[in-house]
Amino acid sequence: MSPLHSDQATTWIADLAWLGGPTLASNVRIEVSDGRFSSITAGDPGSHGTRLRGIVLPGLVNAHSHAFHRLLRGKTHRQGGDFWVWRDHMYEVAGSLTPESYEKLATAVFIEMAMAGITAVGEFHYVHHQMGGDPYADSNEMGHVLIRAARRAGIRISLLDVGYFTAGFDDEPLSPVQSRFSDRKGSVWLERVAELTAAYEDDADVVVGLAPHSVRAVPEAVLVEVAERAPTGTPLHIHVSEQPAENRECLNATTLTPTGLLDRVGLLGPHTTLVHATHVTAADIDLIVDAGAGVCYCASTERDLADGIGPAADLAAAGIPLSVGSDSHAVIDIFEEASGIEMHARLASGRRGVFSPHELMEAATVSGSASLGFSSEGLAQGSPADFIVVDPDSPRLAGLSEDTALEMIVFAATASDVRDVFVAGRQIVTDRAHPGWADARKAIDEGWASLRGTPL
Ligand SMILES: [Zn+2]
Repeated sequence: MSPLHSDQATTWIADLAWLGGPTLASNVRIEVSDGRFSSITAGDPGSHGTRLRGIVLPGLVNAHSHAFHRLLRGKTHRQGGDFWVWRDHMYEVAGSLTPESYEKLATAVFIEMAMAGITAVGEFHYVHHQMGGDPYADSNEMGHVLIRAARRAGIRISLLDVGYFTAGFDDEPLSPVQSRFSDRKGSVWLERVAELTAAYEDDADVVVGLAPHSVRAVPEAVLVEVAERAPTGTPLHIHVSEQPAENRECLNATTLTPTGLLDRVGLLGPHTTLVHATHVTAADIDLIVDAGAGVCYCASTERDLADGIGPAADLAAAGIPLSVGSDSHAVIDIFEEASGIEMHARLASGRRGVFSPHELMEAATVSGSASLGFSSEGLAQGSPADFIVVDPDSPRLAGLSEDTALEMIVFAATASDVRDVFVAGRQIVTDRAHPGWADARKAIDEGWASLRGTPL
């Protein structure tokens, strides 16, 4: 049973809808019951049903998010620096969060996502404990906070619960803020996550996954423990090779690349998603392919943090499924993330059309859903009834024609062109408005001011 879904059986009609493949289908009849698509029929809309006011796509999937990073948007550009300088600012925000403030902030961020057409988020969650590392009375308090926030927004959440144990390969002690992220022992972390998983076992809108933070933050012995103890089918996400420094340190410590290390400990598999994979090698790509693992690209963050351009074309040519995430929320726009894969590949290769528009749309929908453990097949019978309506009257889409509509949307539409959003058949955004936004946005408007007050 899904607390999000509507009990009503409903029929909608779409002039144009993306059912997969390179083109859109016309005159599509969409029937929903019990929160799932009971039938999708193209070419014959029938005589009754509610007409949707635009182009219908499956709900967009944001496969990598850290909700609290949203407070840093627009605040860290003056100082310059690199990823590591930005990380110090991010730690300042992480140190300020309480369960009460984080619930408000995450609610606002997830509502912003809903209004951008995102119907499922993968929240890579690591602020678990109090400053200094003591757990809250319920050690999963912060996880429950994020799940409640997603509920308020009306979207699905895959809570990717992070394990974090070391500040680097040489066993540096954790700083007070990093201690908030740490359960100190792998077994304590895995038991905490097992309790969280059990609490949402019967909930179709919530998945709980495991996320060893990175090979920098999780010792090899704990990675082995995860490989041995993770329940079959659990989504497993990990930051990999976002920065060259991580590769160098991992090679020095283990003689292996981060991906090579994950292979050695048995953590590469069909339910594994490597986040970023910006600086992976050709040998790493072979290992990822052999394991059937996926890669999540976060193009807007990777360019914002000057990470570099990952080998997306090589990954795709090898058949590795790609998903996308807005990660640090420099922007929240899944069309931007999807087109960013292609645009970065063009800059790196000097060639256009590395990816087709429908491959990018798959990354933004069905591949992301599989990566998060929701397994939607898009607008297809039996899949969760999560869908969005893109406004063809948007100035950005003037000139749209049926045969090129998909590329027009992928390369020119923005999050603000999403008009209506439905999750499990229930409408959560109408005419670009979400009923919770006006109150929720205060947490973003006031959050930075109460923390610091001036841009960096
Ligand atoms: Zn991340």
